[in-house]
Amino acid sequence: MQFLEIIGQENVKRKLIRTVLENRVSHAQLFLGPGGSGKLALAIAYAQYINCKSPSETDSCGVCPSCQQFSKLAHPDLHFSYPIILNREKKKLISKDYIKEWRSSLLENHFYISLNEWYAKMESEKKQGVIGADECNEIIRTLSYKSYEGKYKVMIIWMAERLYHSAAPKILKILEEPPEKTLFILIAEKQELIISTILSRTQIVKVPPLDNDSLSSILSTQFGYPDDEIRLVITAAGGNAIQAKNILEETYSGDISSGEFREWMLLCFKLEYKKLNEFVSKVARTSRAKQKQLLSYGLSLSRYCLLTIYGRHELMSIIDKEEADFIVNISKFLNEKNALNYAALFEDAILHIDRNGNASVIFMDLSVKAGMLLNPVISESTR
Ligand SMILES: [Zn+2]
Repeated sequence: MQFLEIIGQENVKRKLIRTVLENRVSHAQLFLGPGGSGKLALAIAYAQYINCKSPSETDSCGVCPSCQQFSKLAHPDLHFSYPIILNREKKKLISKDYIKEWRSSLLENHFYISLNEWYAKMESEKKQGVIGADECNEIIRTLSYKSYEGKYKVMIIWMAERLYHSAAPKILKILEEPPEKTLFILIAEKQELIISTILSRTQIVKVPPLDNDSLSSILSTQFGYPDDEIRLVITAAGGNAIQAKNILEETYSGDISSGEFREWMLLCFKLEYKKLNEFVSKVARTSRAKQKQLLSYGLSLSRYCLLTIYGRHELMSIIDKEEADFIVNISKFLNEKNALNYAALFEDAILHIDRNGNASVIFMDLSVKAGMLLNPVISESTR
């Protein structure tokens, strides 16, 4: 990861590079800033720059053996500690036991990953991970060896808030007086949750939220979303690339044709069971991803219906005319209360698809319920 691969955060990059050029790299630094601002990518690019064999005044070279190993997150002097779900049965007790999952989730997500996404990657039902006592011992053990390549050994501790309180004192000494050529980079979102003795031993590097231009560019060039979809979420995301990515995953219609969705809703409205059955069997044969896209599209349209009911017509100008007409038509059969129920139908169905429910049952159930909500006669009592 070179600095130039990171979109935005130019000020932070310049400050970090200057510490190297002026030979004043502090041995324990805390990258502090909100989620989805790019702290992890910055930490890795910084470590790569420090270890590069022929760095320029603005970036690492990207081609030397050290840079190549960094790009795979496999440099022998690059170490990570992160919260893990302890699993004694499977002997997964330290970060290294999850290193494969860790590398792949960073590379797949362009280094924008939330704690919950990380926990999901470890395939655990339990919600809370820790950086525990075993891990602190491992940090000390790892750093007691000499660096392989003769430059800096770097220990990146992601989500330092999750350092287990009774274990943290173990690393205080090494944090204060690390072996020569060792760099600690702690990454955290909430300063107040970091143990004060750790905090006092680090130099803080503040990382602000992303500006909207950088965020747009990340979403389009790294995650491949189209500009008009990005425009819809950019304000709500508040400079947080992870949040923006999650909203888009939920709402983006992908290659689902909007006409297909409109036909489906018309069948629901008319309660044409035979044709609905055909439609449902067809959808049930498609991939889960495609099924979810269709449902997410329904969810986003139902949110537009709510906006229409609340008279926020100005927002309609950002979608195409056929969709806008459809929303206006369908909104005639909805009110504040049942529009929320309508949206909830799609939310529930997405949840059930996620839990590997039977697609035919889920889509048929949704169809019947949507039909009843939209049908002026049957839903009379709920209006
Ligand atoms: Zn290099």
